[in-house]
Amino acid sequence: MTEHSTPSTVRCDYADVSGSRAVYLTFDDGPNPFCTPEVLDVLAQHRVPATFFVIGTYAIEHPDLIRRVIAEGHEVANHTMTHPDLSRCGPAELQDEVLTASEAIRLACPKASPRHMRAPYGIWTQQVLAMTASAGLTALHWSVDPRDWSRPGVDTIVNSVLANVRPGAIVLLHDGYPPDEERLCTDTTLRDQTTKALASLIPALQRRGFVIRPLPQLH
Ligand SMILES: [Zn+2]
Repeated sequence: MTEHSTPSTVRCDYADVSGSRAVYLTFDDGPNPFCTPEVLDVLAQHRVPATFFVIGTYAIEHPDLIRRVIAEGHEVANHTMTHPDLSRCGPAELQDEVLTASEAIRLACPKASPRHMRAPYGIWTQQVLAMTASAGLTALHWSVDPRDWSRPGVDTIVNSVLANVRPGAIVLLHDGYPPDEERLCTDTTLRDQTTKALASLIPALQRRGFVIRPLPQLH
């Protein structure tokens, strides 16, 4: 989506103020009954937290997965209800996409309290940012994108993250796929490289002195 530039007001990373070399893992487009449990297993094995930007319709279909994500100490965040390009939505549709997704998350797990929003495809407009703020959510982009969804190979995903990661970085990964990609994906190939990459990525980051953290509470 090169025709859209990311507005400078959208957070892409965090300052490394304390010198703690924090890194933040984020997963988009779930929950998915095949991929999300595998990702959760890897995170649990290494005892590291992550943030899951979920699609509202999937949250309704798989409330058990939302509850598991929360129960295991991760954050569930808003990735809209149906994953549209929000720049093409009118004001009513935009509002509905954002508010209904937060409601779907809370319905799936009353303990969940979405704090962050990520626009599908990372397409932010001033209208999207205004809606995000009025919904009480913080807009969150990313700074490291290994394009895991394109299945470039496990090593390529790992090396791409390691080459680009900096203290305070937000890493974009995927534990599902948007509704319009459904027919392109099968259960066996679904984000399998992401899970395998994650299993080597976490220790590789830790060996380099990075600490995988939950997103900071800034409000
Ligand atoms: Zn997405």
